[in-house]
Amino acid sequence: MYFPSWLSQLYRGLSRPIRRTTQPIWGSLYRSLLQSSQRRIPEFSSFVVRTNTCGELRSSHLGQEVTLCGWIQYRRQNTFLVLRDFDGLVQVIIPQDESAASVKKILCEAPVESVVQVSGTVISRPAGQENPKMPTGEIEIKVKTAELLNACKKLPFEIKDFVKKTEALRLQYRYLDLRSFQMQYNLRLRSQMVMKMREYLCNLHGFVDIETPTLFKRTPGGAKEFLVPSREPGKFYSLPQSPQQFKQLLMVGGLDRYFQVARCYRDEGSRPDRQPEFTQIDIEMSFVDQTGIQSLIEGLLQYSWPNDKDPVVVPFPTMTFAEALATYGTDKPDTRFGMKIIDISDVFRNTEIGFLQDALSKPHGTVKAICIPEGAKYLKRKDIESIRKFAADHFNQEILPVFLNANRNWNSPVANFIMESQRLELIRLMETQEEDVVLLTAGEHNKACSLLGKLRLECADLLETRGVVLRDPTLFSFLWVVDFPLFLPKEENPRELESAHHPFTAPHPSDIHLLYTEPKKARSQHYDLVLNGNEIGGGSIRIHNAELQRYILATLLKEDVKMLSHLLQALDYGAPPHGGIALGLDRLICLVTGSPSIRDVIAFPKSFRGHDLMSNTPDSVPPEELKPYHIRVSKPTDSKAERAH
Ligand code: ASP
Repeated sequence: MYFPSWLSQLYRGLSRPIRRTTQPIWGSLYRSLLQSSQRRIPEFSSFVVRTNTCGELRSSHLGQEVTLCGWIQYRRQNTFLVLRDFDGLVQVIIPQDESAASVKKILCEAPVESVVQVSGTVISRPAGQENPKMPTGEIEIKVKTAELLNACKKLPFEIKDFVKKTEALRLQYRYLDLRSFQMQYNLRLRSQMVMKMREYLCNLHGFVDIETPTLFKRTPGGAKEFLVPSREPGKFYSLPQSPQQFKQLLMVGGLDRYFQVARCYRDEGSRPDRQPEFTQIDIEMSFVDQTGIQSLIEGLLQYSWPNDKDPVVVPFPTMTFAEALATYGTDKPDTRFGMKIIDISDVFRNTEIGFLQDALSKPHGTVKAICIPEGAKYLKRKDIESIRKFAADHFNQEILPVFLNANRNWNSPVANFIMESQRLELIRLMETQEEDVVLLTAGEHNKACSLLGKLRLECADLLETRGVVLRDPTLFSFLWVVDFPLFLPKEENPRELESAHHPFTAPHPSDIHLLYTEPKKARSQHYDLVLNGNEIGGGSIRIHNAELQRYILATLLKEDVKMLSHLLQALDYGAPPHGGIALGLDRLICLVTGSPSIRDVIAFPKSFRGHDLMSNTPDSVPPEELKPYHIRVSKPTDSKAERAH
């Protein structure tokens, strides 16, 4: 058979492992990162003028003649100089004898952060002068020649991780910020995880890495897209919010298993965990079901996970959307700690407390609570006040704090109205201990849960600022959330429906009939992957039947099907059943590195307001450059001026 043989030949050739003879030399963090992820050290000094990296030299190199290139990290008393490159630091002795006066001049006069090349011999440090904190601390370089490759002017900030700088300054001089150890670590770890993901997907599981266009057209029913003008009057491209349509079309095209490290664009403004442009590990497979995708992703993360972190344990636990909302008040629960939401409606059926009575008299009324462990010890009166204010301002809900003091006497304004039997039942259901505080609210299920879900996280933050360790920083708690509703009421008009994931998501097989009777109740085959309370991925099994897709788009979502006629047509031409997922790479790396923001794991991120502070982007364009696009800018001030005329 012709086809399989060329295909298997291609794969055999591509996946043959590269054998290296270089002995790994451990020490610097970057090296251990490499060791942990690749189990072999690449050749760092091939094709370049240096013989070694600064960070790699050890006692085993004693007596070797080396050439190093790097940045001057600091200089001490014109006798020592510490040279830095991506691999680490090394101490260089500045020669003091007359014959080496020119070398001394170069090394003593070059400002810090200048780039120099030095050649010399690796010698051991005098006894007692070793630096055990430095991986290269047993040796130093006795310099023979030096060359100043480029002098550095006065810097806007010191290149030292411990020197605090504002984020705006870091972003303005990003190329300097990238010299920091932390940024180097983050970007290299990112590169290595992506490499391992490629290896897992392509070499171990036969995926094909395919690039899809970034100039495309609007996809209905999703995030806001960026527009790109074209030279045809009034016609625009859109930057895709994801390669969703293309990856499905690749399945129709028989590619079978696709993946891409895909750049995506959403015009939604930045937040700590969002960027207008971001990267997804985008995946699609034919003939797969939900469990197949879940196992693939569990294997992918396990395989690409850095070895210096606790290993990923699979399979990940699964929770339904309904359970997540009822227990954690959110579809992305942080399962590293308890403080779960408990329904205590039955305890208060005969209550005399007004707002509880009110809520329970309504058809969908409930009473819910969370227990803050040792809250009485750690929460201050003003914390409780701000919790109550938050509930009132954002949810129009009342919060009742119930304190238990050390001898279990009720210490709360409502104490008088809680009967002894209710008190005991509450303690039993909530498993409260002395010093705990119960936060209680009443109202419609979703609203009460959402509020308590927010308060759960707020209180966890508060307790942690007061020294309680609730969330182990070394713990990675993965969770699948499944059985989402297919549709949600639109925020701006709750009588209309919008897709909970996207309009290509297939309904749950047992709920298809509901599409024609009660679509709001239909569950979907959509799954999200959550890590430590952050959504790091989402996907679905897709609709591969054109008729069903058309019905959902046109009848239920009231979308213009003409915009998707190409996709609908493709589904009619023998589309295989298929499904996929996308992992948010920036968010994932941010969590793995423990960075405060996704901007810390992106080389050139946009600022909080979507600007590139280094190049001042977005920028204005002269009117003549806009002419070919048939665009004229009317600035807000212009139109005011026009109105004034
Ligand atoms: N394209 C989807 C997203 O970006 C992911 C998927 O359904 O595969 O959320």
